[in-house]
Amino acid sequence: MLKNADLEFPLKGKVVFFATGNVHKFNEARCILGGLGIAIGMLRLKGDEIQSDDLQEIAKKSVQTAYKKCQLPVFVEDAGLFIDALNGFPGPYAAYAYRTIHNSGILKLMEGKKDRGATFKSIISYCDDQILDPLSFYGESKGIITLQEHREPEKSSFGFDPIFKPDHNLKTFAEMTIPEKNACSHRAVALCRFAKWYKDTAKQ
Ligand code: IMP
Repeated sequence: MLKNADLEFPLKGKVVFFATGNVHKFNEARCILGGLGIAIGMLRLKGDEIQSDDLQEIAKKSVQTAYKKCQLPVFVEDAGLFIDALNGFPGPYAAYAYRTIHNSGILKLMEGKKDRGATFKSIISYCDDQILDPLSFYGESKGIITLQEHREPEKSSFGFDPIFKPDHNLKTFAEMTIPEKNACSHRAVALCRFAKWYKDTAKQ
């Protein structure tokens, strides 16, 4: 007979921790990993994010810092928004751009631009007691920057969600449910690649 614990932790009591202060990212990850039988916990560690042009370098350093603090199987995720007409700006500086100029500032920079193409990129980096040199998993989502913000109040969105419409979709990320966003997001691709590796490794 299955006990509650078996249902919660299908991989024989294994839990992997997501070090993030962003509850939206955590909910997206829980939806994907939970659906694949991987139990995750949220670790709100104070992040010491380094400055770099390279998302992978940022994610690797962050997860090493997180692992030193928690000594648990842990991953971090770092994302960036690369806008073609702005030569890749804000790229890995997306968090700073969002804090300082918000979506309205990005839309202003995009005024009059015919090329609206943009790519969201995500890197997940993972560490545990066997893997001290972090493993990384990449995902991207190509789309366009919309002319104005589009959101649905009852949907839980964050960051640039209201101005990013992924290719082959009629809605921005902010108009989607979590499962809809997970069907086409940068983070979901990286999470699925991580999940495949994690499940294959956990079986051994
Ligand atoms: P970070 O990975 O938390 O450093 O994210 C960088 C910036 O991109 C932050 O301002 C986030 O709000 C934004 N961002 C990251 N992922 C997403 C997403 O899936 N949708 C919208 N904005 C995002």
